Amino acid sequence: MISVNPYDGQTIREYPDFTAEQTSAAVDSAEKAFFEWRGATLTERKVLNLKLRDLLEKKKDELARLMTLEMGKPIKQSCAELEKCGLALSYYSEKAELFLAPQMVETEAQKSYVRFDPLGLVLAVMPWNFPFWQVFRFSAPSVIAGNAALLKHASNVTGCALAIETLYREAGFPENIFRTLLIPGSNVLPLMDDQRIKAATLTGSEAAGVAIAEKAGRNLKKVVLELGGSDPFIVLGDADIAKAAAVAAKARTINNGQSCIAAKRFIVEQSVYDSFRNAFVDEMNKLKVGDPLSEETDVGPLAKREFLEELEQQVERSVKEGAIVLAGGKKPESDGWFYPPTVLGNVKPGNTAFEEEIFGPVAPLIMARDNDHAMKLANSSRFGLGGSIWTSDTQVAEKMAAELEVGTVFINGMVKSDPRLPFGGVKASGFGRELSYFGMREFVNVKTVVIE
Ligand code: NAP
Repeated sequence: MISVNPYDGQTIREYPDFTAEQTSAAVDSAEKAFFEWRGATLTERKVLNLKLRDLLEKKKDELARLMTLEMGKPIKQSCAELEKCGLALSYYSEKAELFLAPQMVETEAQKSYVRFDPLGLVLAVMPWNFPFWQVFRFSAPSVIAGNAALLKHASNVTGCALAIETLYREAGFPENIFRTLLIPGSNVLPLMDDQRIKAATLTGSEAAGVAIAEKAGRNLKKVVLELGGSDPFIVLGDADIAKAAAVAAKARTINNGQSCIAAKRFIVEQSVYDSFRNAFVDEMNKLKVGDPLSEETDVGPLAKREFLEELEQQVERSVKEGAIVLAGGKKPESDGWFYPPTVLGNVKPGNTAFEEEIFGPVAPLIMARDNDHAMKLANSSRFGLGGSIWTSDTQVAEKMAAELEVGTVFINGMVKSDPRLPFGGVKASGFGRELSYFGMREFVNVKTVVIE
């Protein structure tokens, strides 16, 4: 396992992988912790959850710096990510009682009800792009519901993975209720055969999702998958163009363009295409690219060298296929893995920038004849994670929202996750939901009890 700073390509630290024996011992100890933890009262669990939230807040600066060093996120966004983790912990502390309360059901029996019991050990395979948020949005509801968590984090953010494990311990959770496994992606599949592990959640690429889902199927194990996306950002003829363009630039470049729910296809109605294009190009050119540790920086480097190479190739292919570079489009000379905010015009279905997920600050513009054509373009994607619609007619937008094949729609706003709202996708973006009431339901046994 190796952590490398994407800003200068320098190694931060190397960590030895766990041996098979170490992995098995960690699973064993987490299972023992689960047997103890499931007996804890909800009040006890809530107290620890809130201690964890306070600890996150106390250590925010140190943890934000670690995140930025390991994966290049601009520091102001790292701080915001940690604050959001705190919100999720607060939200589930407040709602756990309500969400987990047994539900009485009227039947002919003397008493019938549904209770929500923990499943046991849940394996979380997580990506590097939101090193804290991805983990907490799973662990906050699942651990308070009585489960134990095993984290297999992305190999380039091991410092963050170990820091999260330490936070759980320092907050006073039972030793081993949250364990980090230092194993590469290639060693994950055998864990799916391990009968001590009862369920899994993976956030990451489609390829990893397919691999885990196949194994989960063989083992009849519950699995939640949060995979890639190519979110449409639809601008209709009556939209507030200046606002749409400003938000579009943010929606495409947040987290250096490496977010699953980033706007990735900008579908603009013909009548406003030119005005949106001009305003959007201006907004993208305004963004400050630089040292992610600087408070001034809007866009930092990509997280890994190979991501930069892949992005460059995707842009080259898109241009060969007919796209026109309107901004950026050329990698700067630098030790870091930087790619500039880029706008591609004249993108059509079939073009690489339309068909593939673009994981970097590159925005394809696609012209739509009218609303129906915009909807058709939006839905002609393998992915179905999120989408946004920009118009002054919210009735039209709500009708379109019903037809969009995605898990989340924002009207006149940028798609973002919120602990209070369910999050997840359809089609190749995966299945299952995280966050809200729905996320908490994923890793509990919905158990019927009837007294005749
Ligand atoms: P990735 O390669 O799939 O890595 C994600 C995690 O899966 C890492 O922990 C990785 O471990 C592990 N992994 C990789 N191959 C595996 C395999 N065959 N079996 C089991 N585990 C495996 O994903 P990425 O390219 O780093 O992350 C970006 C992708 O994640 C994008 O497609 C993005 O859209 C998606 N994403 C989705 C969401 C969402 O909520 N829908 C959120 C964030 C990101 P190693 O690091 O050791 O390889």
